[in-house]
Amino acid sequence: MTLSCCGLGVATTRAIAIGPVFMLDRNPLRIAPRSIDPATVPGELQRLEDALAAAQGALRTVRDQIPHATPVKVAEFIDSHLLMLEDAALVDPARALIRERLFSAEWALEQHRMTLVKAFEDIEDPYLRGRRDDLDHVVQHILGFLLGERIPDSEEDTDLNGCVVIAHDISPADTVVLRQRRVAALVTEYGSPLSHTAILARSLNLPMVVGVRKVTSYFRPGETVVVDDESGVVLADVDADILAHYRQRIRVLDERRAHLRRLVREPSLSADGTPVSLLGNLELPEDTVAIRANGAAGVGLYRTEFLYMNRDRPPDEEEHLAAYLEVIRGLEGTPVTIRTLDLGADKQVDGDSATCPLACNPALGLRAIRLCLKQPELFRPQLRAILRASAFGPVRLMIPMLSHIRELDAVLALIEQVGRELDREGLAFDPHMPVGGMIEVPAAALSAPAFTHRLDFLSIGTNDLIQYTLAIDRMDDTVSYLYDPLHPAILRLIRMTIEAGRAHGIPVSMCGEMAGTPRYVPLLLGLGLREFSMQPGSLLEIKERVRGSHIPHLERATGELFAHLDDHEPEQFAQAIERICS
Ligand code: PEP
Ligand code: MG
Repeated sequence: MTLSCCGLGVATTRAIAIGPVFMLDRNPLRIAPRSIDPATVPGELQRLEDALAAAQGALRTVRDQIPHATPVKVAEFIDSHLLMLEDAALVDPARALIRERLFSAEWALEQHRMTLVKAFEDIEDPYLRGRRDDLDHVVQHILGFLLGERIPDSEEDTDLNGCVVIAHDISPADTVVLRQRRVAALVTEYGSPLSHTAILARSLNLPMVVGVRKVTSYFRPGETVVVDDESGVVLADVDADILAHYRQRIRVLDERRAHLRRLVREPSLSADGTPVSLLGNLELPEDTVAIRANGAAGVGLYRTEFLYMNRDRPPDEEEHLAAYLEVIRGLEGTPVTIRTLDLGADKQVDGDSATCPLACNPALGLRAIRLCLKQPELFRPQLRAILRASAFGPVRLMIPMLSHIRELDAVLALIEQVGRELDREGLAFDPHMPVGGMIEVPAAALSAPAFTHRLDFLSIGTNDLIQYTLAIDRMDDTVSYLYDPLHPAILRLIRMTIEAGRAHGIPVSMCGEMAGTPRYVPLLLGLGLREFSMQPGSLLEIKERVRGSHIPHLERATGELFAHLDDHEPEQFAQAIERICS
């Protein structure tokens, strides 16, 4: 068996792809200094304007072609690049360099880019470093048009069907185009599994390995590579034995899927007979098909942000209602937990972000319930629609990113007010519709008992709980190695939340990625979790683990683990976890 080239990155889905390499050249274009004749200044200014207009037009086209099921963050991301292209601060100084220093358009733009990059580099903040990359992408985009070397155009005639695309970095916009070109997989040098591109790739069912350092120098265009998106490995120079091995693994994965299908109708009971509720996470009304096909007991998280994407105006009350009714009808009487809008801050706060676009950290900014409370005109139509939907089926309303009890009180008051309005208008709703909150900010987990007094259920959002507790940006690949659901601090917060719910007699569920990861099931059962919500594709694997788990044993082992949480050396801790999870 021979193998001469291998790259290791981070898996984002669980699949294997085999195909020829297509190297997407995203190396920065090299710009040579060039002066112009004073007589050609107007023509040079026009070249810059034309390139700018072409770059904007191309980006708008990509935005308009984003598939319906694409996460809202992708459209936001493309919008942010469009905004940069429209920002006078990006091109005015380049125009001045053409007029005053007689620089060519591309050299003027490159000079100004270098000045801006220098300013970014003097700042340590990783978020700002991310914005520097955005600046690079945008300037490269204009330069490509100025030099007539726009990369997607030069690739237009290439058949990418079945190719493994390798690149330094792939933007969400490119991901959309590459999916349409039927590529088999993506591999990048940069990016984290929770980056915009990785989120998009997952939603498009495209295997992707991110963060493979030096990937573009390891592999040669045209050679066959294996992308093992189960373990984050990319292999080249594979001989027939290795290829046969991976083809066999693809068959095994297919067989495993077929085997799991047999569990669809089996009850979700642990080995000792404890019922465990398994629910699906849903992004679009169409997802109800997969949720039903995988035997979910309902929806534990309906991410309604997707209703807001790829459009100029937010949906009105009737559009909200129509989408919710489609889900309710599609799920035939099982509960539907509708989460209120959880958009990020960067695109919503037009006035504020325009004045301090670089000083804000969107993850800590005006996001989710903070945004909704600040913009009730955005929130009220959704609240009215969720309440109205409750007249048609078992709807639960869930509030994201609560951090303070005052926020919760403000939402509850608004719900009450909206209920009175509906009453006056003679519109039906369930006055007892359960209202729950997501526990995804450490402050909320630490204050979970206070939240249980006012709410009907809690749901632990581990994606954000881990981000905020461990102070690691979900989008930043340089810190993704710290993303650790088994960190003792995370386990403590999870346990505190579950115990607070138990003490007050309200259900606690989990809807972050941790709940859909088979390995963590025994530990979470041992911690007392009885409701898991996950992407539909994970439901049967989780059911299999639940059915193989003896909860009283797991509770004892987990109690032991907690009794010594602070005494354990990391190695001992890992072994103790392994004993529970294996
Ligand atoms: C979470 O944070 O765990 C969660 C489920 O919400 P989202 O991933 O949509 O932020
Ligand atoms: Mg969240």
